Order: sequence, then C-alpha cells, then structure tokens
Amino acid sequence: MRSAHIDPLGLHRLFLTHAHGDHVTGAPILKRAMPQLVVTTAPETARLLEKEKVRQVFIRDDHDTGVRLKQLGATTESPAPDLKESLGGLVEAEVAPGEAMDLGGLSVVVIDAPGHCIGGVALWVPEERVLFCSDYLGFFLPPDQFVPNFYVNLRDYLKTFDTLAKLNADWICPGHCGVYAGEAGRRFIDQSRAEIEWVRHRVTEGFKGPDAGDGLQKSLFDHYFVREATMFSEHSTRYCMDLIIRRVMDG
Ligand SMILES: [Zn+2]
Repeated sequence: MRSAHIDPLGLHRLFLTHAHGDHVTGAPILKRAMPQLVVTTAPETARLLEKEKVRQVFIRDDHDTGVRLKQLGATTESPAPDLKESLGGLVEAEVAPGEAMDLGGLSVVVIDAPGHCIGGVALWVPEERVLFCSDYLGFFLPPDQFVPNFYVNLRDYLKTFDTLAKLNADWICPGHCGVYAGEAGRRFIDQSRAEIEWVRHRVTEGFKGPDAGDGLQKSLFDHYFVREATMFSEHSTRYCMDLIIRRVMDG
C-alpha cells in the first residue's frame, strides 16, 4: 500500500472471497491495523465462519503455513497468537451473489463461483473491467504452471471458469501470485484451462495404469508441490491431491 501511495486509513471495506484459511486468517490482523474496515463476505462464507470447527481448521492451516514460510525463509514472524478469539464475530456485513456493492461510486458485482470451495464468490468491476477471481481460475505458480484446484466439484468449477473467462476482463486479479492485464490475462486463462485438461487426462489414465491410488496421488504431489505451492504443508497438499483425483472420478 505504501509503495502504491495508498493511505490505509482511506480504505473502508475488506471483502473475504471464500472460506479457506489462507484467505481469512489475515483479516483480524488487517482489522486491528485498520479498525475502520467493514469486514464483508457472502452469506455462505459468513455461515461457515460462524462454525467453531471451521475456525479450528483455519487456525491449524495458518499455523502450518506459518511454519512452512519460516522454513522457506519467507518470514521470521510467528502467527498471531490470539487468532482463536479474533476469528469469531469477524464478519460485519454480507453481500449475496448477484448483488452489487457501491464503493464510493464504483459498482462491484458479487458473482457466485462454486467448484473450488463452498460459498466462494468472485468480484467484478464492470466499469474498470477488473476481475477479482480469487482461486477460481486455478492457483498460478509463475511463470508457467497452474494447480487446477477444483476441490469441491469439477462440473461447477468448469462452469465458474467459463463464466469468469467470458467476462473478458482487462485485469485478472487472482488471490495469489500477481495481477495480469490484457494478453497476459488471456494467457493466464488459456494456460489454466489447459492444465485442467491435462490433470483430467492424467487422473483418468492413471486409474487404468499401475499407479492407481497412492502412486497417482504421489505423482500429482510431485508435479504440484513446487514453487509458491510449497508454502502449504505437505499434509494438506496430499489431501488436495486426493480431492482432485476424487473430483475427476466423480465426473
Ligand atoms: Zn481457496
């Protein structure tokens, strides 16, 4: 923010796109630094955040990611010690899919984006043709790899992917690893789509071959546990690989 000459006290809203720990656990810290922020999300994410069990998973994930980031030398700081208290009652406002938020004259449309997680939404700013696609167009590992993260439902994910791709945004702002404009944005979508097809083929063929089950999970793990993706724990990445395999087999 400092390098972009943005005054943190001039910000008024913090929007949580979906209920995954890496998109939520920073919110209490930002809220403490900028108390004027109105923490906002879609109703389903608000409902999930009210569940103690869900918050426990986020706290564990946050801890595991913190350990990994330290191992990777990306941070020397420890995770927030009071995350348990500060995650409860975090959400102050809700905006449902299909509705728009008025941000000081700029309209931001909330778009339903199922498939990656339960209750996820994207944000679209039609006037500026900016798309905040969060994790719904894959997890980009620059310069040239994607993790196709259809953890809940492949068919829904593909539908969401098409909906967002058809917006033909000038700016693609994913939840991780950079912002992509114009030709880079189109390449982003094409590469991510190709990776979905690759993994579908890999899983389908893998199930016919000798490496079904653990062998297939291991080969996907080796393929995707690289670059920025190594900030997550090996344990949670293996779990995600199982989900990918299951979702492909579900059809
Ligand atoms: Zn996510």
